[in-house]
Amino acid sequence: MIESTIAASTTQEVVAELRRRSAFVMVSHVKPDGDTLGAGLALGLALKKLGKRVHYFQQDAVPRNLRFLPDAAFVAREIPGDLPADALWVFCDMSDAARAGEHLPPLLRENILDIDHHLGNAHFGKLNYVLPDECSTGTCVVRLLRELDIPLDREIATCILTTVMTDTGGFMHSNTSPEALELAAELMRAGANKEEITEEIFGNKRVGATKLLGRIIDVMQFDFAGRYCYSHVDDAMMAACGADGDDTEDTVNVLRAQEGVEVAALFKAYEGEIRVSLRSSGRVNVQAAAKRLGGGGHFRASGLTAHGTLDEAIAQVRGALVAEGL
Ligand code: 5GP
Ligand code: MN
Repeated sequence: MIESTIAASTTQEVVAELRRRSAFVMVSHVKPDGDTLGAGLALGLALKKLGKRVHYFQQDAVPRNLRFLPDAAFVAREIPGDLPADALWVFCDMSDAARAGEHLPPLLRENILDIDHHLGNAHFGKLNYVLPDECSTGTCVVRLLRELDIPLDREIATCILTTVMTDTGGFMHSNTSPEALELAAELMRAGANKEEITEEIFGNKRVGATKLLGRIIDVMQFDFAGRYCYSHVDDAMMAACGADGDDTEDTVNVLRAQEGVEVAALFKAYEGEIRVSLRSSGRVNVQAAAKRLGGGGHFRASGLTAHGTLDEAIAQVRGALVAEGL
């Protein structure tokens, strides 16, 4: 991925563009999480208050645990035929446009707004609202809403609190800043139900998911004197547990949480591809490691799609991690 030299846009530039356009498509990334979806829904709800036309595009279905979000029922893979040519496509939480999948129509850069908080965002839009110090893409959206003078109502607050809780791991990760906690308090006062969000995102586990976690733990391996923990899941393991892709979300964090582990990797070899999730305790930069293999993310949490067999993928990732100091 070539990092663009186009400078990040200011809040005022982005807000002027939002006011100027009449129609929007909020775009979430493949295998959507609470940040990509919550950020897009929050901004979509706000733009509708300004009388704008808003659609939500997402290649994959909304995961079970995010269906409680306001407007989630309107998220679709189809784009309406009568969309105006100058509709603005708002990509949320993606370091490059390819993260939206292959089902998007060809788009002009002119019609793309990129809102994100990833390191190494490719600045692929006309405007790139990229704030790597923000804990979630949702909190980038809050900055825009404040400039637009749109109050955080209960629905918007629910979406934003979901982005914060997703990306801070329920206020546990190192991106849990004082600002994030202050905003969370404001969102709760605005009507966001933290208990409900906690239960929806982190609770409600299906038995199949817990059984799958057991299998993944059963086959985990340690290397580099216990500093590296990795495991895998494949179609057969999923079928044996009656689980699906939604059920592997948090598993890599369990691997990372083992005593002495600095880096964890989960190789998800199912549905014809190998997706890799990487997590770091803070010494090794897993965003840089993922980037070596065509992926990306954050210093402590990143991902990529690997090529070849599972063994080859394991070897490639090991090489990239060693190159980053594992
Ligand atoms: P996860 O392991 O939860 O799927 O992803 C962790 C982080 O890495 C997220 O911030 C996610 O956006 C990013 N990420 C995951 N997969 C990819 C990928 O294939 N490409 C890029 N650029 N980022 C990814
Ligand atoms: Mn995010």
